[in-house]
Amino acid sequence: MQPIKIAVVGVGKIARDQHLPSIAGNPGYALVAAASRHGSVEGIRNFTTIEDMLEAVPEIEAVSLCMPPRVRFEAAHAALSAGKHVFLEKPPGATLSEVAILEALAERKGVTLFTSWHSRFAPMVDRARAHLADKTIRRVEIFWHEDVRRWHPNQSWIWEAGGLGVFDPGINALSILTEIVPGHIMVEKSVLEFPENKKQPIAASIAMRTVEGAPISAEFDWRQEGPQTWDITVQTNAGALRLSKGGSELYIGGEEKASGPDREYAGIYERFAKLIRSRQSDTDYQPLRIVADSFLCGERKVVAHFED
Ligand code: NAP
Repeated sequence: MQPIKIAVVGVGKIARDQHLPSIAGNPGYALVAAASRHGSVEGIRNFTTIEDMLEAVPEIEAVSLCMPPRVRFEAAHAALSAGKHVFLEKPPGATLSEVAILEALAERKGVTLFTSWHSRFAPMVDRARAHLADKTIRRVEIFWHEDVRRWHPNQSWIWEAGGLGVFDPGINALSILTEIVPGHIMVEKSVLEFPENKKQPIAASIAMRTVEGAPISAEFDWRQEGPQTWDITVQTNAGALRLSKGGSELYIGGEEKASGPDREYAGIYERFAKLIRSRQSDTDYQPLRIVADSFLCGERKVVAHFED
């Protein structure tokens, strides 16, 4: 089978940390070009815009869009219009409308659109989903507390409108939640904390529920220094399940413990290749819907000035 000729757009932190190594490590892909205003990748053709790249390298079959969400729509639209398969980093858009428009365009063009959620590929998420599939969910608690200064240095876009603020990491928790808890989830209320000098929230407290009525709470906070917390605890009719460290450790009934090595992006690229080869799309954007609903229902609280 010929490798899929792929290009990367937006050569920044996540492209360098994860996308480029994962593509290089998967024989199902051949990286042929990159487009980035400042960044570049050695050994392939580089362009400053996606439009120039698509025109100059028609053999490109797929593109991975690794830039911040606010500027991803135009690039995705251009790539799908040119008949390319598209991998969207999370979150798949800055708005729900963008994603719906891209979904319809991909279908019209007969190409693959993949709204990726890397945290769903954390090593213990599949096992958690399988364990919960036949249980009755009684309650879910999520704590996603991290240090924005450590994980997002110099990323001013994250604090701008469309950057999502603390929901940029929080949506990872929501992507796991919607993967492991069967059925639909609704937002009931939320409190969003905005530093007086920022346009996006630094913390959020969300009350959700399953359609059956089991309460789900999520606490997202970007002010946690020291040890970081990425935990989801699910109480069921058969005891508790806890996913820790963003889905890399699993505890069932407080006893059984399993963990696995990190291969989130390797897993994502395997999935993207499978989707392309089977001519399917995966456009689940339920996590973004929960974020949008949290803003719609959100009570705004102004908190102390924050320098990042
Ligand atoms: P980043 O390094 O700040 O941005 C990636 C690249 O996008 C930049 O290097 C820049 O390349 C381009 N870009 C930035 N702002 C732009 C703008 N206004 N217009 C056009 N291009 C722009 O961000 P990142 O951390 O890689 O995150 C990108 C996406 O990946 C986000 O959606 C994020 O949620 C997701 N993600 C990040 C991480 C992480 O650990 N950082 C993990 C998983 C997913 P040029 O200047 O060269 O064009």
